[in-house]
Amino acid sequence: MTNQEIHLSLSNLSKSYGSVQAVSNLSLNITRGECLALLGPSGCGKSTILKLIAGLELPNNGQIILAGRDITKSTPETRKLGFVFQNYALFPHLSVGENVAFGLNARGKSKSVISEKVTSALELVQLQGLANRRIHELSGGQQQRVAIARALAIEPELLLLDEPLSNLDVALRTQTGQQLRDLIKRLNISTIFVTHDQADAFALADRIALINEGQLQQTGNAIEIYFHPKNLFVARFIGHSNLLPARLIKATSNGLAEYEISSEFHLFAPNVQNVQSKPEVTLRIRPEAIEITSTKQETSLLAKVLNVRFSGTTIYYYLKAQGVELEAVKLTPQTPLEINFLNECWIKIPPDAITVFS
Ligand code: ADP
Ligand code: MG
Repeated sequence: MTNQEIHLSLSNLSKSYGSVQAVSNLSLNITRGECLALLGPSGCGKSTILKLIAGLELPNNGQIILAGRDITKSTPETRKLGFVFQNYALFPHLSVGENVAFGLNARGKSKSVISEKVTSALELVQLQGLANRRIHELSGGQQQRVAIARALAIEPELLLLDEPLSNLDVALRTQTGQQLRDLIKRLNISTIFVTHDQADAFALADRIALINEGQLQQTGNAIEIYFHPKNLFVARFIGHSNLLPARLIKATSNGLAEYEISSEFHLFAPNVQNVQSKPEVTLRIRPEAIEITSTKQETSLLAKVLNVRFSGTTIYYYLKAQGVELEAVKLTPQTPLEINFLNECWIKIPPDAITVFS
């Protein structure tokens, strides 16, 4: 069951550094218990948004409301937020336990309360028994968990994580990410995490806010963003899409239109505009929706097989049809397709595999 109560509300937030507009008129709500990913390329303003929420930077404009309270100008300590920095920012000269106790000490808690809270925070991240270790005696994954324990120890209203997985090697990322999501969900703590990696956002977040150049591009869950990207930036960023310049020829039936990609390569896709207005469009074709067969079907097109890449569970096909390069992907079948050994195949692209951007 989801609780729809708005926990954090950002309205019309802007922040500039000199002539750089890091965050531009950003409005976004986070519901209680939600795990939201801020996703976007490097330099798009993600860390700045987290710092504005945490009070480490102040906005030039806009408002931040946490649990009904205007915190736009409050000091970081009074916001009671847990912050995990990208490089963890652990104190190398302190032990694991002293690191986790840091926020509690700063808040003047008694020794016994601190010791109890440190123990339970370390249990949450499965580092019990390591309180006396030095930071440099820990692996990268363990250091990340110390940083999370330190953020959780103060029992924050909200957990803010800046690129929590980016310092971990590939082998650790999936597992650590899953453990992090399990923990967040078990504690039911509202969380905002920053990532530039679409796969991390898809795997960990309930909802994703895509940012480019300081501006919110789209919010939605992974399925909504993947199937219905709002603009070309989103379509490009989500990756592995075929993006083809095309020209609208004429509207046909059922809300479709005919588009020309090259003189011999025409497709039917949703009709999004009047033929007269601006016929130049970009078609986005989802690679998994391209149908591939070894024999000709009605309306199918002949394609050259340029390359085949087998990744275990999936097979990527690099194709060329009428001079147009396309990437297709299929789940690996029980018995490997004969297509793997072909130089040519037949492809069919159903209209609902295509999104049209004008
Ligand atoms: P991201 O986290 O998405 O990579 P940032 O929020 O760190 O992006 O940065 C957004 C933009 O603001 C970038 O152009 C960056 O160079 C600039 N910026 C960030 N912090 C500062 C700062 N303290 N002083 C000047 N420019 C900054
Ligand atoms: Mg950043």
